[in-house]
Amino acid sequence: MTVTVRFAPSPTGHIHIGNSRTALFNWLFAMKHRGRFIQRFDDTDVERSKQEYANAILYDLHWLGIFPDVIEYQSRRFDIYDAAIERLKAAGVLYPCYETAEELDLRRKIRRTRGLPPVYGREALNLTTEEKEAFERDGRRPYWRFLLPNFDTDPFETRRTEVHWNDLIRGEETVDLASLSDPVLRREDGTYLYTLPSVVDDIDFGVTHVIRGDDHVTNTGVQIALSKALGSKPPVFGHHNLLTTTTGEGLSKRSGALSVASLRESGIEPMALASLAVLVGTSENVASVPTMAELADRFDPAKTSKSAAKFDPAELQLLNKALLHHMAFEAVRERLAALGISGDDAEPFWTTVRGNLDTLAEGVVWWRIVKEGLIHQPDLSEADRTFVRQAFDLLPDEPWDRTTWKTWTDAVREATGRKGKALFMPLRLALTGLASGPELADLLPLLGREGTLARRP
Ligand code: GLU
Repeated sequence: MTVTVRFAPSPTGHIHIGNSRTALFNWLFAMKHRGRFIQRFDDTDVERSKQEYANAILYDLHWLGIFPDVIEYQSRRFDIYDAAIERLKAAGVLYPCYETAEELDLRRKIRRTRGLPPVYGREALNLTTEEKEAFERDGRRPYWRFLLPNFDTDPFETRRTEVHWNDLIRGEETVDLASLSDPVLRREDGTYLYTLPSVVDDIDFGVTHVIRGDDHVTNTGVQIALSKALGSKPPVFGHHNLLTTTTGEGLSKRSGALSVASLRESGIEPMALASLAVLVGTSENVASVPTMAELADRFDPAKTSKSAAKFDPAELQLLNKALLHHMAFEAVRERLAALGISGDDAEPFWTTVRGNLDTLAEGVVWWRIVKEGLIHQPDLSEADRTFVRQAFDLLPDEPWDRTTWKTWTDAVREATGRKGKALFMPLRLALTGLASGPELADLLPLLGREGTLARRP
């Protein structure tokens, strides 16, 4: 059977680095198994779901290097969920309830004071036809619960019912269905909660592996039971640890600063983000991995730890820098051209400056310095200015290459007696306007003799 995975966010906001972890785990798993990746939008909440968020999520995924084979929207499949509801009713495992939220709350409190677990007591199963009709006459509409298979013959006599699965990430897992309330599948206004559409879609789309955050572990017991009630063999499940902020708070769609979009806008490279999102909280070393194929080689769901992992933006910046440092010109040629960095000098320029960049866009600053001249006028002392002028008089003739710097500075040392920092720093300041930057030996041929002389103080 073709391995089939899905990434199923609700399009109610932008995805953050934690969501990208889920998407990437699925994508890499599909890559390793030559499987299919379904992008499913869980947009049953039509009020809060927005097409613009779905589009933004697709954009983020493409940027990361994830290209779904199929895109599905739950909001287009309500008739399919309605049909599943009818099947569950016919099988006698879906029952109508009429309690208000206040009534349920009160019952939970009573159960607690009696030392009973605060699960739903299935009182609605005892409603007579007349009682139901009376509720309907009062204007109450039923909501629908799935009768969990946690009893022998009497649903009021529940017994420990363990659902087991071998989690792809966490190993053996068990949920006791007797510890759970019968889940509501459909609300009184006819709208769906997450559970039923998710299970129906996983069956319909042939999902073989459900890989998601470990906040869904408990749902898995219910989903396995519901899959079976719908006559299907449950998929394999894998629950990965969640990412938190450095102070341990959960990430949410509201933590805007950690959204994939804002990290992209701050100049983070997709593979830096992907590397951290996948490798943090695993037994693998966190390092920037240049391609998705190499990341797939390092990815092994079983190496994921069970406890939450902290996401540190500073670590992401370091990975970004390391990635840029080794990035081949071919990998960035088009992006550089879009920034106006093109022509014969573009490649030597890139290899010269990449080791000094925090973001690719910063390359523009160096391109301007090389091609247009100084952005900041250096503050040279009178003595340094005299020294630099003297040095400029000793510039070798062209052609220039990487050895020119040494030839030049040897001559300058000889003529002026200056050496070390006293020699290099005034030259660096005069040539670039900055106290640090790329190797001057590499910069010099890019400036050329004419470009260099134009910087004579
Ligand atoms: N829409 C659900 C979520 O974002 C999907 C969970 C799942 O993968 O089953 O949490």
